Amino acid sequence: MSTSSKTILITGANKGIGLEACRQLARLGHHVILSARSAERGESAVKGLSAEGLNVGFLLLDTSDEQSILRAARELKQRLKALHVLVNNAAILDTWQGSILDAKAADLRDTFATNTLGPVLLTQALLPLLEAGKPSRVINVSSQLGSVEKMTDGWAGYGISKAALNAATRKLAAALEPRGISVIAATPGWVRTEMGGSSANLSVEEGAQNILHVITQVPPAATNQFLFGNSHLPW
Ligand code: NAP
Repeated sequence: MSTSSKTILITGANKGIGLEACRQLARLGHHVILSARSAERGESAVKGLSAEGLNVGFLLLDTSDEQSILRAARELKQRLKALHVLVNNAAILDTWQGSILDAKAADLRDTFATNTLGPVLLTQALLPLLEAGKPSRVINVSSQLGSVEKMTDGWAGYGISKAALNAATRKLAAALEPRGISVIAATPGWVRTEMGGSSANLSVEEGAQNILHVITQVPPAATNQFLFGNSHLPW
């Protein structure tokens, strides 16, 4: 993608990597829409960026709720002519860290709804705007824990949801390539956020850089890839 000003929507962006990605993209002069499932937390994040001299829009959106996705897409269609980049960043880590043998149905369902189904439904709902913005791009924020080749036991819901997100990335890439929309799965690495914890090796700035890389450095025609910075990861 080129570095000219783009309209970019980031989900789950009231904190962590999503918020930092909004900050860095706004500094580069992009038109950024920060979305969050809580109006209070989202608007407070927008205010914080505004205090730093950065202007970003806000969109209320709960990625685990189909009605919220459809409502948000309707609102966005009224506000925008085109969308160049959708960053499906919102995600949860299931509370069960142990073996898949003891994983609870509710945890599996919740992580799948937020981490996998949400990005697919949101991409569908925003298709007219993405087509209007072509060459446009969907970035699914994934994880090395979603790599099927490297799959081990533990964090069952999260790992399965991210592996399924990677599969959805490939399906969407195949379906959207003829329409001028590329689809990339990218991991930020292990990052010191609420989700990553304080022992992680990357700062939030470095984690966000790994997502920005896909917007600023990876050519528009590149699609159907699983990236960590410049490196291609096994699906
Ligand atoms: P985080 O600090 O926990 O932030 C997650 C964000 O997602 C929060 O803004 C949260 O909002 C939002 N969210 C959760 N459920 C949502 C929903 N249903 N609708 C809308 N927003 C929702 O996590 P992070 O570390 O920044 O993670 C960002 C992305 O990077 C995720 O996709 C994660 O899987 C991926 N990742 C992270 C790491 C890491 O080490 N941190 C490693 C690999 C991949 P609330 O504040 O309302 O909860």
